[in-house]
Amino acid sequence: MSNFYYQDGELFCEQVALREIAERFGTPAYVYSRAALSQAFSAFTAGLQGHDHLVCFAVKSNPSLAILNLFAQMGAGFDIVSGGELARVLAAGGDAGKVVFSGVGKTAEEMRAALKANIRCFNIESAAELERLNQIAGEMNKVAPVSFRVNPDVDAKTHPYISTGLKNNKFGVAYEDAIALYQRASQMPNIAVHGVDCHIGSQLTELSPFLDALDRVLWLVDQLHDLGIPIQHIDIGGGIGICYQDETPPAFAEYAQAILNKIAQRNIQLVFEPGRALVGNAGVLLTQVEYLKPGSSKNFAIVDAAMNDLMRPALYDAYHHIQPVVQHQGLKSAVYEVVGPVCESGDFLGHDRELAIQQGDLLAIMSAGAYGMSMSSNYNTRPRAIELMVDGDQVHVIRAREQVSDLFALEKVLKA
Ligand SMILES: *Cc1c(COP(=O)(O)O)cnc(C)c1O
Repeated sequence: MSNFYYQDGELFCEQVALREIAERFGTPAYVYSRAALSQAFSAFTAGLQGHDHLVCFAVKSNPSLAILNLFAQMGAGFDIVSGGELARVLAAGGDAGKVVFSGVGKTAEEMRAALKANIRCFNIESAAELERLNQIAGEMNKVAPVSFRVNPDVDAKTHPYISTGLKNNKFGVAYEDAIALYQRASQMPNIAVHGVDCHIGSQLTELSPFLDALDRVLWLVDQLHDLGIPIQHIDIGGGIGICYQDETPPAFAEYAQAILNKIAQRNIQLVFEPGRALVGNAGVLLTQVEYLKPGSSKNFAIVDAAMNDLMRPALYDAYHHIQPVVQHQGLKSAVYEVVGPVCESGDFLGHDRELAIQQGDLLAIMSAGAYGMSMSSNYNTRPRAIELMVDGDQVHVIRAREQVSDLFALEKVLKA
């Protein structure tokens, strides 16, 4: 059963009515189900039992300390893309020895911090980055564990903004260049070759791109083996999709089994970097209707959450279900554009939604646990939403609502 469900016309998260949460903590509010998070992590790892694996939660999808801490307690590693994310993982009690560091633009300072923490692996994305890492590791008298993020040039069949495995984007090293880079790395004094990495995109709803990418990675592993460069782990990235609307992504068990079928006989560790799949459907964004504004061609429902809180609709034209927190009997429904108060025409949360609502009603923007809070901003000097974690019948504040004064606390006016 889902952890978000209706009972007597009211939407619940675990055992708590979202209406009560809104009354107690105000809106907009991100609400996560602890059970949904832990169930997702357990389900992801269940299919991998019996084969050496490490599941590194992609921090950028939801960097909340409470969520990182929950996954850390369940044995997760972490995929980070900045020094800031490394600091978060450590603050949340994560194990640096299970951290992989992705990203095309790692700074010298970020490399130093990661080497000092003794992270598990640097996922290298260019020759220049390799040179810099070797030099910095040398200065620190360290040996940096690396894998190269290879670009397998497979079409992930997802939105172009979240497809990363094709030749013409900025990520990874070209497949054809990989062997030369591994040879160079294996000769460097302060680099240790550990793995091969790829990440082909996000919100993938088919297995075939993962399997095509894995085939290409395995071919590379075999070539490297023949050249005397043994590979200890394959990192197949993240990207497995969730259901927002009517998508049917592969179940975790099916995904794991298909991958294990290809790997089975090999003595090689599997690393995964799921983000969205672990958190996306574990969170909702609660919002209140400020005004209904009927029009001749469109009706608008103006709510107190906006693109600064949840950017995915404005950025990718992404779809999120929008559901009433309390279902009305006998209220006539209408079709609405659900929009926020931000001064941009792109500020919408949903188009053409049939809803039976009135001013003051609460709505839940569903599937908002991934790339929601983590992509939020203070545009229009809007404080970021409070974050709450429901655990059974308890509600915990895991991030306080920002105050307006916080937003300009670092600023100064010039003296006349
Ligand atoms: C964003 C990202 C992920 C996570 O992607 P999801 O689609 O959220 O699973 C994993 N690895 C890398 C390198 C990423 O950039």
